[in-house]
Amino acid sequence: MPITVVGSIAYDTVKTPFGERERMLGGAAVHFALAASFFEDVRVVGPVGEDFGEEQLAVMRRRGVDVSDVERVAGGRTFFWQGEYGWDLNSRETLDTQLGVFEGFQPKLSERSRSSDVLFLANIQPDLQRDVREQLPHARFVALDSMNLWIDIARDSLVHAIESVDCVILNDAELRQLTGKPNLVTAAREVLSWTPRTPPASGGARGPSVVVAKQGEYGAALVTREGFFALPAYPLETVIDPTGAGDTFAGGLVGYIAAHRSEIGATTAEGGGGEELSDGLLRRAMAHATVLASFNVEEFGTERLERLTGNEIVARIKELHAMTQFSGAPLKLRG
Ligand code: AMP
Repeated sequence: MPITVVGSIAYDTVKTPFGERERMLGGAAVHFALAASFFEDVRVVGPVGEDFGEEQLAVMRRRGVDVSDVERVAGGRTFFWQGEYGWDLNSRETLDTQLGVFEGFQPKLSERSRSSDVLFLANIQPDLQRDVREQLPHARFVALDSMNLWIDIARDSLVHAIESVDCVILNDAELRQLTGKPNLVTAAREVLSWTPRTPPASGGARGPSVVVAKQGEYGAALVTREGFFALPAYPLETVIDPTGAGDTFAGGLVGYIAAHRSEIGATTAEGGGGEELSDGLLRRAMAHATVLASFNVEEFGTERLERLTGNEIVARIKELHAMTQFSGAPLKLRG
């Protein structure tokens, strides 16, 4: 099932203990699209400025990503983000954010982008996320990412946006901040209890049925109404640049789910899936997300994903599988 993603398309200036890059290709929608392109057709929606190069668009085109809804704003500047990481790469400081063409951005989705069955609302202003969500009322699976900034300054709109999606992907700290609950599982359960205040145009109750809490180098946890699953991050000895790891993770997760059309609940006459995804599918999606993110952090920006191959993904999935399974130990315990 084709995927539409709306989010930032950016120039990133990044400094890590292992080097620095100036104005490299970045942005949440870009990292997501490159990862998801290993599984499905991806359509990117977002603005760029006059300074955005053809070569940057070609990076996405080479992976088969449809960039026809990337809007070039005359006289505008591309979204710019600058960050610096601490020595263990766990702490990141944002040094500069220039919204550029994102200021006053009104998402205009083509017929093609509106026809996608799967939608990813990358981290942008929640009002924009809701606007795009309303343009795809019949999407069968919708996922959303956000950040502390929007929890701070636009929480109500963000909660509205979350109520209209199937899957929420946040950092663990963001999930705690959003719900005010210090316990991660309780926080996730709180989000799972949210339902739309006004029933969606497409009918049905819905509200999120999957919450994914990203935990950086410690992996990620998945909480549904019935279950829980967690995976560690793939253990790497060389991590160069974590920028975009979260979006790459989301691209792996949503891409994998989109590629398994038959396992997503059947669409009702009014549109909208709404059936729970199978536990097995979600677990496999988590594994692919974890593996995609692990490749992303091996080099700066999009460098590693640009030359990643399907075979490399498959090999690492096997390794991750081997290192995370254990068999039952039939030992009679004392006491
Ligand atoms: P991540 O490392 O997964 O949090 O994603 C980093 C990417 O998000 C970078 O490529 C940035 O260009 C982009 N980014 C950073 N801040 C923002 C923001 N406020 N809105 C949208 N995108 C952002």
